[in-house]
Amino acid sequence: VFAHLVQAPEDAILGVTIAYNKDPSPIKLNLGVGAYRTEEGKPLVLNVVRKAEQQLINDRSRIKEYLPIVGLGEFNKLSAKLILGADSPAIRENRVTTVECLSGTGSLRVGGEFLARHYHQKTIYIPQPTWGNHPKIFTLAGLSVKTYRYYDPSTRGLNFQGLLEDLGAAPQGSIVLLHACAHNPTGVDPTLEQWEQIRKLMRSKGLMPFFDSAYQGFASGSLDTDAKPIRMFVADGGELLVAQSYAKNMGLYGERVGALSIVCKAADVAGRVESQLKLVIRPMYSNPPIHGASIVAVILRDRNLFNEWTLELKAMADRIISMRKQLFEALRARGTPGDWTHIIKQIGMFTFTGLNPAQVSYMTKEYHIYMTSDGRISMAGLSSKTVPHLADAIHAVVTK
Ligand code: PMP
Repeated sequence: VFAHLVQAPEDAILGVTIAYNKDPSPIKLNLGVGAYRTEEGKPLVLNVVRKAEQQLINDRSRIKEYLPIVGLGEFNKLSAKLILGADSPAIRENRVTTVECLSGTGSLRVGGEFLARHYHQKTIYIPQPTWGNHPKIFTLAGLSVKTYRYYDPSTRGLNFQGLLEDLGAAPQGSIVLLHACAHNPTGVDPTLEQWEQIRKLMRSKGLMPFFDSAYQGFASGSLDTDAKPIRMFVADGGELLVAQSYAKNMGLYGERVGALSIVCKAADVAGRVESQLKLVIRPMYSNPPIHGASIVAVILRDRNLFNEWTLELKAMADRIISMRKQLFEALRARGTPGDWTHIIKQIGMFTFTGLNPAQVSYMTKEYHIYMTSDGRISMAGLSSKTVPHLADAIHAVVTK
């Protein structure tokens, strides 16, 4: 009965790693993967995560029963505090409901499906470009997806005017997906002043903010700084949704741990929202996994472990920033034509190089360097040893 099926294409992002794995070349370099690597090119388990896991193992009273539908209660409370701030008025007034979900993706999906069922507007505006999974997640959640202008290829920066025009023209009440920080794939974020203008415009039109926070702490190295845009929208008393992921900032990728928070205008509303979220989650996967959320709760509840985490997080962010500087310097040293300052200006894990699909394909064929065809490179996949190879390849392809 399935013989008629055609072979589906590989995922555009995960497919890069599949192609990389097949390449026998010793000089091959994978800059497609959105996961942190050490200077030695190895995946990293944070020390603080190992400590938390040890604590969990030593605790003989721990059991493996199902969590409630909404996940681990302590994890949910601590996650809301982490993103909204310990002194958030919305938390103090019990206006926030938080549910543990399957990492960032699961949080976006549950939030999307909740909106499709209960929010009066079914259109979500996502930035152009955005993470490739966004349109698929929201379409399958039952929303209709439209885009707003975000990136300007000519400046390799923000198309702020286009963004304001498109959000200004969106129907009253539309949902707007916003990357909280370290926009993927462009590495281009609005300034705080621009965020304030976006906030004013959105609130004046009743547009519903849905923040995707996949990189808190990874952009600036400070958890609080990276959460500022979200907190500006909470401070005005209005509603919003936020999807949090601990994949990158705690290195918990495969544990699939994240949270969806919905900030409401009143405590009784938040309670009813939570009751409806349970109806979305129960038939989808019943309840979330326990292990990753327990690790996060151990770290967030303990001042010493929390401080240790922030240091390890800052070290990851700093290594990425240092890779930006090294790549920029290497291109300058080679006299590579063009303005490459965007490499040091862009924020977070990725640089949107401006290389086109033909150039990317040339670099893969001739230099065994793998990246998505839109020219996005993961700075976390680079090291001091591999920067010269990448700079040689970029130089070759733009002077070809
Ligand atoms: N949003 C963005 C912008 C991302 O880049 C990612 C990870 N690549 C995610 C959400 C979700 O990741 P995860 O489901 O692994 O938390």
